[in-house]
Amino acid sequence: DKLVYHFSEGNKDQKDLLGGKGANLAEMTRLDLPVPPGFTVTTQACRHYLEHDRLPDHLKVQVTMALRRLEDEVGRRLGDSVDPLLVSVRSGAKYSMPGMMETVLNVGLNDFSVQGLIEASGDERFVWDSYRRLIQMFGRTVLGIEGDDFARVLDAAKATKGAVDDLELDASDLRRLVEDFKAVVEAGSGRAFPQDPREQLDLAIQAVFESWNTDRARIYRRRERIPEDAGTAVNVCTMVFGNLGETSGTGVCFTRDPSTGKPGGYGDYLVNAQGEDVVSGIRNTLSLEDFAEVDPASHESLRKIMRRLETHYRDLCDIEFTVERGKLWMLQTRVGKRTAAAAFRIATQLVDEQLITMDEALERVGGAQLAQLMFPQFDPDSERTPFTRGMPASPGAAVGKVVFDSATALAWTAAGEPVVLLRKETNPEDLEGMIAATGILTCRGGKTSHAAVVARGMGKTAVCGAESLHIDEEQALAHADGVEVRQGDLLSIDGSTGEVFIGRLPVVASPVVTYLEEGLEPALEVADEGTADLIRAVDRLLTHADSVRTMEVRANADTGKDALRARRMGAQGIGLCRTEHMFLGERRVLIERVILAASSAERAEALAALLPPQREDFDELLTAMDGLPTTIRLLDPPLHEFLPDRSELMVKVARAEEQGVVDDEDVRLLAAVNRLHESNPMLGLRGVRLGLTVPGLFAGQIRAVAEAAARRIRGGHDPRPEIMVPLVGSLMELHLVREEAARILAEVAEAEGVALDIPIGTMIELPRAALTAFRIAEEADFFSFGTNDLTQTTWGFSRDDVEAAFFAAYLEKGVFTVSPFETLDEAGVGRLVDVATQEGRRTRPGLKAGVCGEHGGDPESIHFFHRVGLDYVSCSPFRVPVARLEAGRAVL
Ligand code: PEP
Ligand code: MG
Repeated sequence: DKLVYHFSEGNKDQKDLLGGKGANLAEMTRLDLPVPPGFTVTTQACRHYLEHDRLPDHLKVQVTMALRRLEDEVGRRLGDSVDPLLVSVRSGAKYSMPGMMETVLNVGLNDFSVQGLIEASGDERFVWDSYRRLIQMFGRTVLGIEGDDFARVLDAAKATKGAVDDLELDASDLRRLVEDFKAVVEAGSGRAFPQDPREQLDLAIQAVFESWNTDRARIYRRRERIPEDAGTAVNVCTMVFGNLGETSGTGVCFTRDPSTGKPGGYGDYLVNAQGEDVVSGIRNTLSLEDFAEVDPASHESLRKIMRRLETHYRDLCDIEFTVERGKLWMLQTRVGKRTAAAAFRIATQLVDEQLITMDEALERVGGAQLAQLMFPQFDPDSERTPFTRGMPASPGAAVGKVVFDSATALAWTAAGEPVVLLRKETNPEDLEGMIAATGILTCRGGKTSHAAVVARGMGKTAVCGAESLHIDEEQALAHADGVEVRQGDLLSIDGSTGEVFIGRLPVVASPVVTYLEEGLEPALEVADEGTADLIRAVDRLLTHADSVRTMEVRANADTGKDALRARRMGAQGIGLCRTEHMFLGERRVLIERVILAASSAERAEALAALLPPQREDFDELLTAMDGLPTTIRLLDPPLHEFLPDRSELMVKVARAEEQGVVDDEDVRLLAAVNRLHESNPMLGLRGVRLGLTVPGLFAGQIRAVAEAAARRIRGGHDPRPEIMVPLVGSLMELHLVREEAARILAEVAEAEGVALDIPIGTMIELPRAALTAFRIAEEADFFSFGTNDLTQTTWGFSRDDVEAAFFAAYLEKGVFTVSPFETLDEAGVGRLVDVATQEGRRTRPGLKAGVCGEHGGDPESIHFFHRVGLDYVSCSPFRVPVARLEAGRAVL
């Protein structure tokens, strides 16, 4: 097998094999861009290493050949004593894992090649500094020596010299430091720092493979759902130096602003610095505009390459580069991560620039991103006196208590306390705290710092590089311009403006929601330029999704008000009105009276009292949804839900008995509660079972629907109610309800003098219903999948209990990667949906089938429902836009 690829041998589509970095280095090499020559060791080699605990047999030989080719190409030898070749050894998996794995730079330096490099570079200080960096990095990543051991020696060297900054150490200081670092290596690992350049290279490659399995890499993969067994490639690349004086430097840039989507490049540049100095945010950086001042020629070349890459990749690119004595080198590029707002804006910009089609633009945004844009924001009109400000690195409005370390962030969040993690800068060790926090704030680094990149990837609010902020970690406090915050103080951080406030700032609806609810014009009127651009982008992409999608989107709504909101957001009907929600609050007693009725006359009276309020509710709903299908579900939950809590009532009655003041009403109530008590109410007397055992209950609801509809028809309107029967498991259940319904509908039609055509359908939410769908379809005008119950009954998971009880353990152990109540379990529950749809339609061609469980608003599940051929998904009003977008994307 070919395990090593020269950069000129690969291309951007080989990410599986070469990793993202390797594939893109190859692509840039193919494009003739200035990439330092090098080669990539494949992910396959890594997988072999991880599986067998040793390198694949042919790897050494192939590395030898690749190295020889590289040496011939650049005309230098690795670790030579004359003008030596040095290489960097970097990780690079298929999916970007920023900073999670290891890198070793300056491989090839040893006691002989330092002399060669001093001659070649003419800069003795630089060379000794490079050598000590190699020993340090190699010692840490390859030999497992604590970073602190080196830091202590470095601090001692500075103290001896009376120096504050590394830069004050001169060549002879650094030369001494090299000897001290070698001693640290010997003491820490029991072996001398390897002088053989090839041994350095081999060990470094192996160490990068190993770093696939560090804790932080695992945590990151779990969070980002990156497969555990993918492995990383290793890129061995000719070193170029950004730290060769004032005409050198290193930088990171994006071809558009990744946090807002604003056109034009965005980047950070550091003069006289090496590699990770920029990303780690340790020193403050220059903007691209400043870079243009400092080094106009390199800046101009960079601009050209940025344009070239964007046109080639037809997307936002993220670039790492180095300038070595005035010569620009590309070290990396990839399609860049971006915020939700940037994703929408950039997608439509690229359409306007004729780089992509609207279909492609739609593929580049997602429902989860749209949902993020709908989150509330800080009220722009509130009193906004910032405590400090930094870079708006990842948008959002986060309010939480300040903590200064990852462990406290984890502990407080676990206790239900939202936190803002405040760090000087973040590094991969902070990952867990960043995941836990609602917001991230740093004092150093820009939009390209580790904190910013990781936060954007997670969709988490972040402000970075708040320079006026000083942290005293020991005292757990921070201050800016004389104002102090202590651990536990509330902070509000605005990731869209970079402002940070003490206390809790009020939040308001997002402008995207204003657009969705009120339309384009009113939303644009109050928006600034960037926001207006975003709103237009969302509008265009949603409109496009609407034009391509084949599934309808309905809403789950129980009141006229919710229905109206859903309609404004684009709902094409109501897929589920849960009528039980009409009996919460004050009206609860009406149901209570039905339950407590002592005689059939009393019950009839109680049922009759239910009719007018229900009719009114249905009228309101049908008014809101005039002309659109409105699915009304008959009462579903077990009756005890309408009665007082059993144990409270028992205590109350027992106390009253003790005091001899018993209330007869309470005793009657308790008797009813006891009679209706069930061990598994979710599997008990509910849904159609209730309808068939409590005479008159469903009949009353059906009559209320029919009368409300009839009266609206008479008023010249267009009501389109559909009646839906819950928890059906057998044809007979549906048959009985249908018979009764037909009688009532005919009666009402006759009495009101109108024709009533009200479809009667069923929910499919039991495996038996799904498996006998071909029978049930005989009497169902439509199917609606209740995937909440169908998930519960297919897995045997009590939907109210299991998530808190053991889902964390199941996710941890990989039984599933996401709760099946959130994203449909395609293999099991999905199979039932598929079977029932196909077999139901065999009996009744064209049978309308939809879904009204929570999954109807879940992006991934929506794609599945489209594939199965459902006619519609129904979800909560706020998810309607998300579902419209995803139903469109599902077609592509
Ligand atoms: C379902 O079970 O998926 C459903 C929509 O009904 P409910 O959630 O009300 O049980
Ligand atoms: Mg249900």
